Amino acid sequence: MGTLSIVGIGPGASQHLTPAALAAIGEAELIVGYTTYIKLVIDLIRGKEIVKTGMTEEIGRARAAVERARAGGNVAIISSGDAGVYGMCGLVFQVLEELGWKRGDSPTLRIVPGMTALNSCASLVGAPLGHDFCSISLSDLLTPWPVIAKRLEAAASSDFVIGLYNPASGRRTRQIVEAHDIIARHRPGTTPVALVKSAYRKLQDVVQTDLDHFLEYEIGMLTTVLVGSSQTFMYEGYMVTPRGYTNKYTWDGEAHSGQKPGRSLMLDDEGAPVRAVDVEAP
Ligand code: SAH
Repeated sequence: MGTLSIVGIGPGASQHLTPAALAAIGEAELIVGYTTYIKLVIDLIRGKEIVKTGMTEEIGRARAAVERARAGGNVAIISSGDAGVYGMCGLVFQVLEELGWKRGDSPTLRIVPGMTALNSCASLVGAPLGHDFCSISLSDLLTPWPVIAKRLEAAASSDFVIGLYNPASGRRTRQIVEAHDIIARHRPGTTPVALVKSAYRKLQDVVQTDLDHFLEYEIGMLTTVLVGSSQTFMYEGYMVTPRGYTNKYTWDGEAHSGQKPGRSLMLDDEGAPVRAVDVEAP
């Protein structure tokens, strides 16, 4: 019985590779991955057989990994961040389905989670993901642009913090401008925006800016764009999206009068959190 490990290696630095990912890579005889990711873990895989390919050869890479593992090999297929987030994991399942693989057949699957770009980029700018957020990939290479535009519109109008993956590449420069235009219809120009490039890699670069100005900076394939919600604020150069503790509690940790710990937030007729209620005389 072969083993196929589908491994997220985190953003880049070895400190952010989990012990489980390290073990899966260590046990594999064949490592399959995009050239850039192979380079990130090269010290761990010296002496092993390596299949590295370019970006557009994902199907071939997934097939090669699956076929070798199916024939009894111990194979690790690696993706940056988490392999299930805009990564190879979904494609591996499609290849397995195509081959008619069933649970119990070779290979055994081992899916090893990794720290996503959203997590690692957020850690470099503060706490931008402290409340509801979503991620949207701006790559229209495999997804029709109208679908992406619709999601941008929905996320922007629903006040999510938005993480934009694959914001631009050498040839793809229009999408980030259109994304800006859609989001700017719903949020003020002063909304905090962070551009994080190559988080935890050699060429790491972080820019803190806002919705009106972020297009003036370089944005490429290795950038993740974090756009704040209406609640996101800047504090000492950090980008913070609060969870709402102050809606319910004072700084002494007491619930505001009219609010109860463990219960839904009480709202007034305008929908604002209640800070005091008229207490009827006994
Ligand atoms: N599986 C990955 C996502 C791959 S999609 C994950 O879980 O994070 C590729 C996109 O991810 C890039 O265009 C960029 O937007 C983002 N990304 C990946 N690694 C990054 C890093 N180290 N720093 C900043 N953004 C990164």
